[in-house]
Amino acid sequence: MTHYPQLLAPLDLGFVTLPNRVLMGSMHTGLEDRAANYPKLAAYLAERAAGGAGLIVTGGIAPNIAGWVAPFAGKLSARREVPRHRLVTEAVHAAGGRVCMQILHAGRYAYHPLAVAPSPLKSPISPFKPRGLSARGVEAQIRAFARSAALAREAGYDGVEIMGSEGYLINEFIAARTNRRDDAWGGDFERRCRFPIEIVRRVREAVGPDFIIIYRLSALDLVDGGSDWEEVVKLGQAVAAAGATLVNTGIGWHEARIPTIATLVPRGAFSWVTARLRAALPVPVIATNRINTPEVAEGILARGEADMVSMARPFLADAEFVRKAAEGRADEINTCIACNQACLDHTFAGKRSSCLVNPRACHETELVIRPAERPLKVAVVGAGPAGLAAATTAAERGHVVTLFEAAEEIGGQFQMARRIPGKAEFSETLRYFRRRLEVTGVEVRLGEAVTADALAERGFDRVIVATGVVPRTPPIPGIDGPQVLSYIDVLLGRREVGRRVAIIGAGGIGFDVATFLSHPHDGDEPVAEYNSEWGIDPAVRAGVEGVEPRPDGTGREIWLLQRKQGKPGRGLGKTTGWAHRLGLQRRGVHMVPGVTYLGVEPAGLRVRIGDEERLLEVDNIVVCAGQESLRVLAADLESRGVPADVVGGALEAAELDAKRAIDQATRLAAAL
Ligand code: FAD
Ligand code: NAP
Ligand code: SF4
Repeated sequence: MTHYPQLLAPLDLGFVTLPNRVLMGSMHTGLEDRAANYPKLAAYLAERAAGGAGLIVTGGIAPNIAGWVAPFAGKLSARREVPRHRLVTEAVHAAGGRVCMQILHAGRYAYHPLAVAPSPLKSPISPFKPRGLSARGVEAQIRAFARSAALAREAGYDGVEIMGSEGYLINEFIAARTNRRDDAWGGDFERRCRFPIEIVRRVREAVGPDFIIIYRLSALDLVDGGSDWEEVVKLGQAVAAAGATLVNTGIGWHEARIPTIATLVPRGAFSWVTARLRAALPVPVIATNRINTPEVAEGILARGEADMVSMARPFLADAEFVRKAAEGRADEINTCIACNQACLDHTFAGKRSSCLVNPRACHETELVIRPAERPLKVAVVGAGPAGLAAATTAAERGHVVTLFEAAEEIGGQFQMARRIPGKAEFSETLRYFRRRLEVTGVEVRLGEAVTADALAERGFDRVIVATGVVPRTPPIPGIDGPQVLSYIDVLLGRREVGRRVAIIGAGGIGFDVATFLSHPHDGDEPVAEYNSEWGIDPAVRAGVEGVEPRPDGTGREIWLLQRKQGKPGRGLGKTTGWAHRLGLQRRGVHMVPGVTYLGVEPAGLRVRIGDEERLLEVDNIVVCAGQESLRVLAADLESRGVPADVVGGALEAAELDAKRAIDQATRLAAAL
């Protein structure tokens, strides 16, 4: 039986046939930016090609210096840069894959002073005001695209993707928001679209007929002054006529204030946009955004919404996504949970990307999981993310592993994380690890709070302590009152929560608890309701940001408090924190910094805010004041002289997250 018949069906592009409908979408990993890192880039992409991706698109490569996303970012504008790209194409081809180079001109999003744009308008997310291009300057950018594409062909790429969406240079020409010209390149829609059409035409001329050109079309701008649907379709038809082989769907400018790829976006939330494009365009179209399982991808293709699906982050999470799907092993796929923590958040911090659930991503040549020289008898205590990663990695290497978990199920704090509205994806990580424990043959002992004595008796060669954390109880008068709850009580449903709630602590967990208490959906939100919550206009009528957002709530009055001054949520992820904040704001959660906690009273929580003392009249107070390492077992082992390695929260609770826990545990187990 063929698994996923639509997904695994070949796609005939006339001069080349792709083996399946899976595009590995473009992601900036940071490896593109240094010539010395191209062997690593080649290894990373070759693993994905070997894993079955039908067509790979590289991270954005600038066609000239002005188009760099940041100083010295990846570029292909000169022949001397070709050899490093050849490393990539040869590695991908040797692994049986195909690869297109994305040409990305950053325009006014360029993080350097050489930025150019159709008009000299600074973007709200960049400190650099771009120089407005002269007519000669416009011509020079078009030439740069064509030359870069020709060099890409010389470097052995199978095609290029022309980045026309997300608010970069090409998109800036198209949208009245950023194009204030009144010459041959701006004014009415026809003139604003000349730039992308001319680029596609000249690239086609430069590369010949048998080379893939993907045009990434901004189908939803999600900003004021963007294109309306009629304009999107007209442009799509024009780029197809100018020589594009495939049209990929672009959703949302980077400066848009509507989340488009975060965990809280429902799976496949934008396939309806691609479906409408498909009905209007003469070339195959590609669906994108929050497609992260073979089932979702197959559904989109089976419903005729797209000819191909693009998945980007899912290939960071699992290089073998396609092969596992094809072999009927979809339950072994390490699913991207759309957290952005190790990929996009790294990119925006200028760090190399990786993946929270797969720390090998973009580190393929450095973090190598080799068979153990001598199998050891290993105990891992705690089945949170750290313990799960340690146990499965060690077992994969051939060690004989027993995993002890005090609770009746694996997962540790992920059992709470997955209950947060918009974080249901975290369940997939637990499904993955559950299956991985079976596949690697780990002996799992649930409901066993193991002691140092018991471990010493069993004669393990190595003990890995991954016992995690306990919530911190701050020394506030009355904190042991009956109306005070821990986040564990709340999230595991052990206690009822009243209508008026104060939350002590506005870190990641405080925000999640506020979401849990204020959001009406406990699983995946239906797409229509998501669109209504965020004000996405399904008609794409007015060329404006959208319609009025209509968030539903639970009717609770919630106070989210922190002691420090400054905006609550500042420590949340760069690419997702703003959406969490905005969501809570719209549901009426009061977020208050600069709070001193004076005491818990029967009528509520007494606080000082600035100079004002007041009683917040609430039914319950939920404590989310950080965590402390649970080190009882580690200390007992030490006192008995049993050597142990401590990882994850048990080692250090401050600023702990699952990214650090999994990375640390995987590295430890890789070196056992
Ligand atoms: P834990 O997950 O705490 O696991 C420790 C395990 O050890 C537990 O299962 C415990 O029962 C077991 N144990 C303890 N003592 C013993 C013993 N003696 N014998 C046997 N078993 C024992 N992180 C992120 O990166 N991104 C997020 O979006 C995110 N969201 C979160 C949302 C919530 C609501 C919460 C609570 C946490 C969230 N986190 C998030 C944090 C993340 O879950 C933790 O950083 C991570 O779970 C730490 O992993 P760990 O394995 O070190 O510890
Ligand atoms: P946290 O992010 O460190 O936040 C702890 C909060 O408690 C802060 O708001 C802190 O602010 C407050 N606090 C600390 N000590 C206090 C005290 N003695 N009295 C009163 N308030 C106190 O920790 P967390 O929220 O427990 O999250 C744990 C980890 O899980 C974090 O490292 C986080 O990265 C991770 N996580 C991540 C996400 C995500 O979306 N990426 C979501 C959930 C959790 P003040 O000191 O200013 O009051
Ligand atoms: Fe997906 Fe998170 Fe990994 Fe990024 S870090 S690829 S969003 S799981």
